[in-house]
Amino acid sequence: MSQIHPQAALIERRSTGEWQRADAAHFLHPFTDFKGLAAKGSRIIERADNIYLWDSEGHKILDAMSGLWCVNVGYGQQSLIDAAARQMKELPFYNAFFQTATPPAIELAELLAEVTPPQFQHVFFTGSGSEGNDTVLRMVRRYWDILGQPRRQTVIGRINGYHGSTMAGASLGGMSGMHAQGGLPIPGIAHIEQPHWFALGREQSREDFGLSAARWLEAKLLELGPENVAAFIGEPVQGAGGVIVPPASYWPEIQRICDQYGVLLVSDEVICGFGRTGAWFGCETQGFKPDLMTFAKGVTSGYIPLGGVMVGERIARVLIDQGGEFEHGFTYSGHPTACAVAVANIRLLRQLHLVKHVQASTGPYLAAQFAKLAEQHPLVGEAQSCGLMGALQLVRNKTTLQTFAPELGVGMLCRAHCFGNGLIMRAVGDRMIVAPPLVTTLAQIDEMLGLIRRCLDLTLDDVSRRGWL
Ligand code: PMP
Repeated sequence: MSQIHPQAALIERRSTGEWQRADAAHFLHPFTDFKGLAAKGSRIIERADNIYLWDSEGHKILDAMSGLWCVNVGYGQQSLIDAAARQMKELPFYNAFFQTATPPAIELAELLAEVTPPQFQHVFFTGSGSEGNDTVLRMVRRYWDILGQPRRQTVIGRINGYHGSTMAGASLGGMSGMHAQGGLPIPGIAHIEQPHWFALGREQSREDFGLSAARWLEAKLLELGPENVAAFIGEPVQGAGGVIVPPASYWPEIQRICDQYGVLLVSDEVICGFGRTGAWFGCETQGFKPDLMTFAKGVTSGYIPLGGVMVGERIARVLIDQGGEFEHGFTYSGHPTACAVAVANIRLLRQLHLVKHVQASTGPYLAAQFAKLAEQHPLVGEAQSCGLMGALQLVRNKTTLQTFAPELGVGMLCRAHCFGNGLIMRAVGDRMIVAPPLVTTLAQIDEMLGLIRRCLDLTLDDVSRRGWL
């Protein structure tokens, strides 16, 4: 604390109640029932270190969601803090419009070309993942325009996919709740079903179902006419949809279909990028070669907002050589402070060998521990994981895999126990999901599993007491 300049200490200390009252009076939270939260009061998170948070009541909480799938290097990493402070002093902001650039943005572009798959040599920076996907939509349409195929307008996404909250992001995503508000999706977007074996494919083997699910794309292409389709977009592993790990047969078949019909393939790596799945990018884990990749979150480990789109050479060459001006960009495209933090973050990921750590050690360990839970715990019907993202499907009957009625809110009950027991785990319906920081150690995975078991047991007590079993 002593190193902080007195003028920087602008955030005062207040009691939990004072924070909650001011919060309820003025702050409209994202994805929140405003009235419900105002009545209950927010939980105020005040500080963090490594994989732990502390709230305003002094409770220590294991953050098994890495903030919001983003704090890959964990909290309190001094090299990221120093990079921000140094850059803010030197040049806090300058734009990249009007034929200017700043050293951190150039350095980051160069570094991204190094850590991404070889087809990527160019990047377009944005301020977030949603803006990245807006950029994707404009860019793929522009690409086909330049090539004299302006009818190739439609982008196909997936039901229960998540691609952000802007008009394009929410439209590309397939979240029914979002589509029910504000006139979404916008025109020129289509959706196919998700490769969710537990929900949609249990009468087939996982691998057969993976092929069937990929072929829904082929059917949709033939329905729309491939000459009208610009691109297909998907998350390598659906995150917000509930950590749905597709069968291994899925993405290679998607790749075959996109290649056959000349459709661009877009990998939304906002969650899966920067080591989450045990490779630098989820497309590498899942075995496909996208033309474009959206990224955000893990690029700065969430320390500062930054997103962007890696643009494959197939597209970059057309935009550069034949496109003239691309009429698109954001004030914060290439923000120097954000880029300086990203450079420090990527260096740290390398220095600590975190991608390898997930691939060879913590990823397989989490998978093994989750498999044990699926075997042993009466509430767990399926466990899935990929690197350090995982899901536990809660079920009413372990043998038949019968699920609970959604309106019972069993996932939310379990989440409340997590909150009450010092663990942040998210509920997507009755799928309990984790994505802990990549610095998490094996001992900390054991600690997390201990907390998860306790919360599952408490949830089991609740559901049996209420007669829901
Ligand atoms: N794509 C995916 C896969 C995401 O998970 C998210 C955010 N959770 C986004 C896009 C949107 O990113 P942002 O919230 O930074 O706009």
